[in-house]
Amino acid sequence: MATTPVSQALNRGGAFLITSIAPEDVFTPADLTDDQRLIGQTAEEFVAKEVVPNIPQLELHKEGLLAQMLKKAGEIGLLGGAIPESYGGAGLDKVSATILAEKLAGYAAFAVSHGGHAGIGTIPIVYFGTEEQKKKYLPKIATGELLSCYCLSEPQAGSDALAARTRAVLSPDGKSWILNGQKMWITNGGFADVYIVFAKVDGEKFSCFIVERGTPGFTNGAEEHKMGIRGSSTVPIFFENAHIPKENLLHEIGRGHIVAFNTLNVGRFSLGAYCLGGAKKVLEASSKYSKERTAFGKQLAEFGLIKAKLGEMAIRIFAVESMIYRSAGMIEGAVSSGDSAADKTKQAMEVLEEYAIESSISKVVGSETVDFCVDEGVQIFGGYGFHEDYPVARAYRDSRVNRIFEGTNEINRMLIIQMLMKRATAGILPLIPAAKKLGEEILVGPSFEEAATGAFAEEERSLAQAKKIFLLAAGTAVEKFREKLADNQEIVAALSNIVMDVYAMESSLRRAQKSAAARSSVAAVMADAASAFIYDAMDRIEKEARTALAATADGDTLITQLAVLRRFAKHAPLDTIAIRRRIADAVLAQDRYPFEGR
Ligand SMILES: Cc1cc2nc3c(=O)[nH]c(=O)nc-3n(C[C@H](O)[C@H](O)[C@H](O)COP(=O)(O)OP(=O)(O)OC[C@H]3O[C@@H](n4cnc5c(N)ncnc54)[C@H](O)[C@@H]3O)c2cc1C
Repeated sequence: MATTPVSQALNRGGAFLITSIAPEDVFTPADLTDDQRLIGQTAEEFVAKEVVPNIPQLELHKEGLLAQMLKKAGEIGLLGGAIPESYGGAGLDKVSATILAEKLAGYAAFAVSHGGHAGIGTIPIVYFGTEEQKKKYLPKIATGELLSCYCLSEPQAGSDALAARTRAVLSPDGKSWILNGQKMWITNGGFADVYIVFAKVDGEKFSCFIVERGTPGFTNGAEEHKMGIRGSSTVPIFFENAHIPKENLLHEIGRGHIVAFNTLNVGRFSLGAYCLGGAKKVLEASSKYSKERTAFGKQLAEFGLIKAKLGEMAIRIFAVESMIYRSAGMIEGAVSSGDSAADKTKQAMEVLEEYAIESSISKVVGSETVDFCVDEGVQIFGGYGFHEDYPVARAYRDSRVNRIFEGTNEINRMLIIQMLMKRATAGILPLIPAAKKLGEEILVGPSFEEAATGAFAEEERSLAQAKKIFLLAAGTAVEKFREKLADNQEIVAALSNIVMDVYAMESSLRRAQKSAAARSSVAAVMADAASAFIYDAMDRIEKEARTALAATADGDTLITQLAVLRRFAKHAPLDTIAIRRRIADAVLAQDRYPFEGR
């Protein structure tokens, strides 16, 4: 697994756009240790045995039931993953935390509630709490004795979270903060004991506070009537002259945004893992149903169009899984190779910041993959997919919110490019020299290229060309718009889509190569999945680049750039229909995602 320190360019966040990594340096699910697999198994069994049988009552918000489920999870150590052992948690490494999140996805509403407590409801205290705050809250949060939540959004301030109106002022005697205002959409808010609340000191300085249930002047409203994840609690909360102790300020006055955004960064990564788990569940159910149901004297599974769906679901899941575990391995490698004398918590936060681009990718691609899978799942179930008696209908409703919370996918797409540009300008990531070098290469003109031969040669070529396409499109856009690039959101989104596809292409390819080198029994099917993904990604990337270039350049410059783009985007034809059929057969043989743990 990747263990190089973050300081080396190869492993920097976003470096995948300009460097190449060897297959053996990429962490894949095949590298999971027995202990990590056991964590995943424990989480999966917990959901299957304790949570799933209660779904009908959970969906109806049976009083106290969800809190009881979370507390049970706490009893077996499923809530304290992010909490260091010294504060009663499990202090899980990033890979273990990832598989834990993924395997909780058997019931989305539970997974979301878990994230609200053990992720964004815990991280602020772990990373920014004082020693007293950590000692007071973390051991009880780890066991579930105290349940927590994260309160950033307000009725008028969601994506634009810093426009919050909730205010905090110091009381005349200087002993407490007085909070006034309202928060909205608070996951776990109906039953939590500990609320991580963001408010502006004196209406100006964005800050963070710990508020306990029972504080006079603090109340929660009724449960929202939601489209999905109905089993989870989502409520507004209100502060009317709520006095909280002065020492419940979390981190520093005016530095609440650091707490808020770093926490969301961690949350986004886990959200991708929850989505991955959800997508696998839908594939499993769809595969089973496609064999049970017959039409025109055949099983649905025998029809090419059904196989195409199952195959494509597996391909997309494979790509997102390859990215998420690669990132988890990279994050863990960087954390564990850091200075052993340094403050571990601070170091972990720095590493998470380093990989904020990869966290946003996890969130966006994870949520869009599960959305694609639930949609195709409903289609495979036909009319029954539209009936609430079949779990795929609930999965369809539950999935939709993932593109909205933890930063909408629009916001995350813009963040990806914003963070890349910031790193490039600061010289942390040598994107500018790489774009200049490409410019020189383009001026020299095309060199004679021999046809690619050997295993993965075409895929390797496509990957290298895709990175050039990003530099071409991004370089042109930055040159034209400079600091105004952010105002051209459609171009930013197109560039972001290229970035995500490049990361997915490389992660899928390296995993398939690693699997081939290990002579894994699934290596051939995995190679198929990587090839099909890369083939389709090249078409998407070409289109996104064309869109961006056409909005950036014109006249002869545009004609020249489009010619260069066509040359870079050229790829040999591939029979992806046959590939999808083969992958679908691998799904159908086991009624599940065929690369589990491989
Ligand atoms: C079920 C559920 C649970 C939630 N749990 C929590 C929680 O526990 N804690 C918490 O604090 N919040 C929570 N949220 C709130 C969630 O984070 C916000 O809904 C989300 O950030 C979007 O904010 P908004 O709803 O105000 O939408 P808006 O910010 O109004 O966005 C509306 C649309 O405009 C787009 N948009 C906004 N700004 C821009 C821009 N600059 N450029 C381009 N497009 C833009 C958005 O992408 C979106 O498509 C939850 C929400 C839901 C639905």
